[in-house]
Amino acid sequence: ENKKKLSLTSRIVIGMVAGIVLGILLKALFPDSTIVEGYLTKGIFYVVGQIFIASLQMLVVPLVFVSLVVGTCSLSDPSKLGRLGGKAVGLYLITTAIAITFAIAMAVLVQPGTGLELATDATYEPTQAPSLAQVIIDLFPTNPFNAFANGNMLQIIVFALLFGISMALVGKAGDRVKTLFDDFNEVIMKLVIILMNIAPYGVFALMAKLFAETSFETIFSLGKYFLLVLFVLIAHALITYPVILKGLSGMNPRIFLRKMREVQIFGFSTASSNATMPVTLETVTKRLGVHNSVGSFTVPLGATINMDGTAIMQGVATVFIAQVYLVDLSIADYLMVVLTATLASVGTAGVPGVGMIMLAMVLGQVGLPVEGIGLIIGVDRLLDMTRTAVNVTGDAMVSVVVAKSEGALDEDVFNDAKADLKER
Ligand code: ASP
Repeated sequence: ENKKKLSLTSRIVIGMVAGIVLGILLKALFPDSTIVEGYLTKGIFYVVGQIFIASLQMLVVPLVFVSLVVGTCSLSDPSKLGRLGGKAVGLYLITTAIAITFAIAMAVLVQPGTGLELATDATYEPTQAPSLAQVIIDLFPTNPFNAFANGNMLQIIVFALLFGISMALVGKAGDRVKTLFDDFNEVIMKLVIILMNIAPYGVFALMAKLFAETSFETIFSLGKYFLLVLFVLIAHALITYPVILKGLSGMNPRIFLRKMREVQIFGFSTASSNATMPVTLETVTKRLGVHNSVGSFTVPLGATINMDGTAIMQGVATVFIAQVYLVDLSIADYLMVVLTATLASVGTAGVPGVGMIMLAMVLGQVGLPVEGIGLIIGVDRLLDMTRTAVNVTGDAMVSVVVAKSEGALDEDVFNDAKADLKER
């Protein structure tokens, strides 16, 4: 076919870079132009960007349900599910704990908040953490359609698992339903691919709007905090993940990172693990060779509970706020931060900005003034985007490791640079 056509990844990268450049130019050349604002940032960029995000989100619930049902009922041995879930949850928690420990250590070392005098006038109420009993009870939907309607991912996962197991157990009728779900799955996957093909325009619009509206002055005033979070995020993605991937699965981290680029850009431009999930799932199962029976479970689970990037922001932010308010944190306090930030990141929904809200819980836990959030919220958007890119990378990395250990990783697909590109 047409060999000269640019790959989808290249087109998405171009969309992103062009959007950023155009946004910065618009901001510099027409700072307060009502025309730019009316027709572009609040006009066409806004509309195109929102439609792009909405259409990604539109796919999440049906995609997770259908692919997880298909995945579960094709498990040769449903009793493996417990082990699979245990491994995934365990790895998700451990990587998050590593991320936050790293973040705290760096913040203690660099001291981004020492000597800063900043004003905040905002007030925040810390959210109460729900009890463990309630968290477990809430996994079970009383009405699956409510769960679908509210996009309650964990409840959808539980219902899909039970449904898929029953399908596998019921024989002929199960087989018939499975054929139907297989077909549904194929259709929805096609829709994902179609959406990915319009992504360059969506990403372009999102970036152009954001950068035309962002003023970099606040970022400069919080430069040290901003750069430190950025640094730890990037180091976690480029060092911690490759080491864990190589160590636990033996797979090549370079190939992994190269194939993850697209997913990362989706995470970056939408700032939502949730909205990125269709693309994560497509990449994990079709390009990284993770069998659907594992990926359809670990990816939505990860997008819901695994937020390493969020934990990193929360770790740096906590230390930063303690330094600004001249509060000394003890070793016990730091351990408390590791624990609560790990749990808080589990409780963080994969949508924009929630990590900041959950930070209130962490601050409250160690007796820091919750108003401290007011200091950093002004620079959070770009950090939110970057940490989301890290969050989704972690989901995919753990999926590969779990799949490998379950014998559900197709290494030929993983190593094949062109895997699935033809379907695009
Ligand atoms: N936006 C992040 C995500 O979707 C969550 C957060 O940290 O706010 O992964």
